[in-house]
Amino acid sequence: MHISFLDLKAQYQTIKKEIKKEIEEVLESGNYILGPKEKEFEKEIAEYLGVKHAIGVANGTDALVLSLDALGIGPGDEVITTPYTFFASAEAVSRVGAKPVFADISFDDNLNIDVRQIKKKITKNTKAIIPVHIFGCPCNMDEIIQIARKYNLYIIEDACQAIGAQYKGKKAGTLGDIGCFSFFPTKNLGGYGDGGLVVTNNDEIAEKIMTLRVHGSTKKYYHSRIGYNSRLDEIQAAILKVKLKYIDKWNQKRIEKAKLYNDKLKNLPITLPKIYDENHKKHVFHLYTILTPKRDELKNYLEQKGIPTGIYYPLPLHLQEAYKDLGYKDGDMPNAEKASRQALSLPLYPELKEEEIYYITEAVKTFFERV
Ligand SMILES: *Cc1c(COP(=O)(O)O)cnc(C)c1O
Repeated sequence: MHISFLDLKAQYQTIKKEIKKEIEEVLESGNYILGPKEKEFEKEIAEYLGVKHAIGVANGTDALVLSLDALGIGPGDEVITTPYTFFASAEAVSRVGAKPVFADISFDDNLNIDVRQIKKKITKNTKAIIPVHIFGCPCNMDEIIQIARKYNLYIIEDACQAIGAQYKGKKAGTLGDIGCFSFFPTKNLGGYGDGGLVVTNNDEIAEKIMTLRVHGSTKKYYHSRIGYNSRLDEIQAAILKVKLKYIDKWNQKRIEKAKLYNDKLKNLPITLPKIYDENHKKHVFHLYTILTPKRDELKNYLEQKGIPTGIYYPLPLHLQEAYKDLGYKDGDMPNAEKASRQALSLPLYPELKEEEIYYITEAVKTFFERV
């Protein structure tokens, strides 16, 4: 059996006609940047998320950078985030000249940031918290919002892996001051190139983001501030408009497959992702990640059986070379470090077949019978 870790071509086959029509329309229109499709997409995704403003930008990293900039965060400021995420969550903080401060994760909450650890990291310089809904599972937002209110901090949600996820009935990315999304092709809602989105209910912040993405100008060739060139292009917007219609269906398939995995893998010496009641937390499984001390052996074994797996993430951010000046050392974030040694992501995407999951889970069982 040939199994893919992720198969983006399979999804394209199911929507090919619509996509081709949309792209053709853009090509014929002569409008390639911030045109009508982009406006429509922003309106539709704002409605989908239940948020007042949605602003397309060039990618998820820029969504974070522009958000920090719009809030006036820069040199001398500290921003608390998780060490167990894609690098961009912290890189954006450094990019605006502020200092990322890491707070360890919790094994009780699917590897999300531990709210008790956030509290310990607050100083007089702390300006914001970036909770990352890792692998598509929402963080404990009530507690994070409570801390943010108490210490007067902004919340920028990194919802790049969590489009469609919900916390107590509200969409991830709409609970803090700002939410950031990525449309990188492998994300649950992915374009055929780069793309990103900033969402907020705050008019002033929205205005700033819209200005920042076009070189700090509100009127063409008049610049009120130093900005960026960071726009969602018209072809990506047209593609995403088509794909947005399917996102709930695709997420639902991911959830069903994650449940099947959990069912087939129970009673093995591995930690499975926790699936919550959807009214509490709707986890959209950008990745299906298990934990085992035998991670490397299991990975090799599965590879031999033709099953590709992924390691997200092999090195937590506080130990990255780029952050050696922050002065962290091995042992500072024991949970994130343990997760980096034990995490293994199994294939999961909407088009993955049930037989494939049976084949994968049988191989995992056989591995643990042998050792
Ligand atoms: C993908 C991702 C980003 C960055 O998005 P890009 O579109 O690749 O710039 C940021 N944070 C997290 C958690 C991500 O998964």
